[in-house]
Amino acid sequence: MARKRKLNTRKFKKALEAEKERLEDHIRRLEDRASGRDPLNRDVAARDFDELGGDAARDTAERGQVAAIGENFRDILAAVNTALKKIENGTYGICDRCGKNIPKSRLEFLPYATTCAKCRKELSG
Ligand SMILES: [Zn+2]
Repeated sequence: MARKRKLNTRKFKKALEAEKERLEDHIRRLEDRASGRDPLNRDVAARDFDELGGDAARDTAERGQVAAIGENFRDILAAVNTALKKIENGTYGICDRCGKNIPKSRLEFLPYATTCAKCRKELSG
């Protein structure tokens, strides 16, 4: 049986739910942009493309960028959902890799962290 951690998760849950809502909203807007339903909403991805020159190049680059950002959001959203599930089953705040408690300061900074900083570092090489 998985180890459980005694931790007051109320504020983490709140933070995660807010993050989830924010991410879902971003993803929705990116999808609207990608499908051309919302061409005027340029706030998320279009900032850096002015110097590329040429509408075609810009369009292609922008579309790639939007997809990349969307993927990134989805990754984070998946992590947020995993963290919420961990809260439900009492394993929130325990490192997936080494099984030690993730420091509270790290969870406060990154509520959807599923590994401690040391393991994260080792995993990313
Ligand atoms: Zn660890």
